[in-house]
Amino acid sequence: MSFYDEITAAGIAGYDAAVDACTDGDVSRALSKSRTGDSLDLGDFMALISPRATPYLSDMAVLAEQYTRRRFGNTVSMYLPLYLSNLCLNNCRYCGFAAHNRFPRKFLTAEETRLECEAIRRMGYENILVVSGEDPRHCGMEYFREQLRIVNQYASYMSLEIQPLDTPEYREMKSLGVDYVCVYQETYDPECYRENHLSGKKRDMRYRMETPERVGDAGIDKVGLGALLGLYRWKSDVVALTRHLMYMRRHYPETRLSISFPRLRPAEGGFQPEYPLSDRQMIQCLCAWRLFDRELEISISTRESPRFRDVITPVVITSISAGSSTQPGGYAADHHDLSQFVINDSRSVAEVSAALRRHGLEPVFREARSQILELAGSEAAFPAA
Ligand code: SF4
Repeated sequence: MSFYDEITAAGIAGYDAAVDACTDGDVSRALSKSRTGDSLDLGDFMALISPRATPYLSDMAVLAEQYTRRRFGNTVSMYLPLYLSNLCLNNCRYCGFAAHNRFPRKFLTAEETRLECEAIRRMGYENILVVSGEDPRHCGMEYFREQLRIVNQYASYMSLEIQPLDTPEYREMKSLGVDYVCVYQETYDPECYRENHLSGKKRDMRYRMETPERVGDAGIDKVGLGALLGLYRWKSDVVALTRHLMYMRRHYPETRLSISFPRLRPAEGGFQPEYPLSDRQMIQCLCAWRLFDRELEISISTRESPRFRDVITPVVITSISAGSSTQPGGYAADHHDLSQFVINDSRSVAEVSAALRRHGLEPVFREARSQILELAGSEAAFPAA
């Protein structure tokens, strides 16, 4: 049974009410398990995101930070998105790249990708997230084969956020050097999903929701799950996403999992989120997630404000971006505005790094793997006597 079958059978309609019905007793049980290090179940998670847990937010934050530091040390991994293309055949109501929006479209040539990679390396990054709209006519496997071979020369860790693929294609992606695939479900509510995905392949909710399983089947190191908060009732989507996480832990124990909480931002087309999530509610969800799953990697993008990122990063975050551009060619060339969404934290890499250090955290731009390979290479050059 796939996760799509599981969540369809369960339905997510009752989650909002179930979260709101959590009692003080439920919250204190979940907190006490968190203090003693016991495992939390889905009911505990719901208690921690409920209104009854709000008065305990600072307790949750203290515990969450302890777990984050214990598991991940005092480091934060730095990554940068590389937008290859803003062409897209889908019509997602909330996205600036949607096919119905009229503005200049572009996909990078091999030479432009190389220039982008060089600019990214000059910024200090080796952890590169390759992003593209979904247009297999121009950006299909043949295109990605060529582009990823180039990116892989510059990246010590290569991630992918493009259209969902079949398992054999993910196997090939792995052979091209892809370490991590992000595929966000946007919302787990079927009706809301239909309303917001007007046309294109993304309308196929099952295919999208089963993508993390195909990535796991292909043996790729890490999968990123997420929901676009603000699209639907956030409590329901957050609980459904947690179930998705539990499913992946159960069925793919070897796969590392990451989660992202993109909140809807204004985009081309004037879309406004219907169910906005306050900073306080978002912090509560993030802390609940850390207490629920202490191995979970959590990333935060430049959609969030500098203040919010500075506050939440020491508590739960394991990877962040800084100095991002969401337009193809945005690092090496001065293109027209081709962006996917409005960036909220426009600080430079140096400014974000300095903010992290003020909180006692060290930004890490290189994956340990590349440092090990470098060391191994230098030992090969100087063989032991
Ligand atoms: S969210 Fe992705 S699939 Fe939807 S329009 Fe934007 S780029 Fe295309």
